Amino acid sequence: MRTSHERGIAEVTITVESTIKFPYKRSLGPVIGPFMTALAEQRFIAIRSGSRVICPPLEWDPETAAELPRDFVDVGPAGTVCTWSWVSRPTEQHPLDRPFAFALIKLDGADTALTHVVDVESIDQMSTGMRVAPRWRAERLGHITDVEAFVPGEEAITVNGGVPGEPVTMMSYDASITYKIPVSDNTIKAHEATAQGRLVGLKCPVCERIYARDRGFCPIDTVELTDDHEVELPQRGVVTSYTIITPVQYPGQTETEPFSRVMVLIDEIDVVMMYQPLVDVPVEDVRIGMRVAVVWASEAEKADAGRPGNLVGWMPTGEPDNTDPSLANRIM
Ligand SMILES: [Zn+2]
Repeated sequence: MRTSHERGIAEVTITVESTIKFPYKRSLGPVIGPFMTALAEQRFIAIRSGSRVICPPLEWDPETAAELPRDFVDVGPAGTVCTWSWVSRPTEQHPLDRPFAFALIKLDGADTALTHVVDVESIDQMSTGMRVAPRWRAERLGHITDVEAFVPGEEAITVNGGVPGEPVTMMSYDASITYKIPVSDNTIKAHEATAQGRLVGLKCPVCERIYARDRGFCPIDTVELTDDHEVELPQRGVVTSYTIITPVQYPGQTETEPFSRVMVLIDEIDVVMMYQPLVDVPVEDVRIGMRVAVVWASEAEKADAGRPGNLVGWMPTGEPDNTDPSLANRIM
């Protein structure tokens, strides 16, 4: 997750921008696979369905759902814009970093339309019925983006070389979403407390439950929680449950060895902090009942991390274990 802070101009609101991204691979199957392979060769193929020619090709007849014979035919490369939509402010997830059109393009010889990008300098150059042709990328992978964009005209812009030797059977994709959320006053206070090495919560004046410092309200009583409800929490507790995580090496994973996350029941009050890091304890030594205390980042660690404060995790205190068997039931 990437975060950044910015202040709006109209009102002084701090927002945090987050990006959640996860990559996946999918197999393409017997029809999309050849379609993608053809793209790498700077060709478009369609599939015959009765008297119709369908592009992009489908495995199944869209009307009867019957499996189609693999009767492929070349179409395009030029085509006609059936309809289009102008993107005046592209985001980082759009295929071009300047204004462009998304268009349904019926390639010559096809009866159905392909969705793609038309790269023109302004919306005035777009029209339904306009003729377009593909501009191919030099580096082609067997992906729909092997066509960088369609451009006005009849002639495809082709590039020599760059063809993968093997048929394309898999597609890699990064699903990604970026969003901004405003940062509440309570969240700012929570960070300030952490920077000061304080463990604090907010106590509901009605039910007396204690919540994390960044919580805005008690969900049981719908009471707003403010600075008036702040309480200091003891910085010691007991492990009530734990999980050993064996890291899978997905992109962005920085852990390589198995590690633990523990639930800590705070001393004297009825609060369980969930999924806390345990510091300097081999995974085989993690156990329910272990007495632990907060570890804060050192000044050097804070400087390294480029942030004011940080709860690093929890460390054994060396006290005898709590042997109460009901502890295992306290996961929240
Ligand atoms: Zn309450």
